[in-house]
Amino acid sequence: MNKRWTIGKIKEFVENNSESKLLTTEYQGFSQKLLFKCGCGNNFEKTFKKFKDNHQRKCEVCQPPKASR
Ligand SMILES: [Zn+2]
Repeated sequence: MNKRWTIGKIKEFVENNSESKLLTTEYQGFSQKLLFKCGCGNNFEKTFKKFKDNHQRKCEVCQPPKASR
């Protein structure tokens, strides 16, 4: 259950599951904010947990944050 993520696996996940690219080259844990480049060219920061679990896979321009339900 405790899947170990490495920067290489995260990069792969990002490329396979979104139009964004990973710019960060070092992964230090789920609480770390990673730097992504959105398909539109904007850079954005997000934790990998949010990216993966909350499906926040684009910048805030392409995917504005939703008000909590
Ligand atoms: Zn974008």
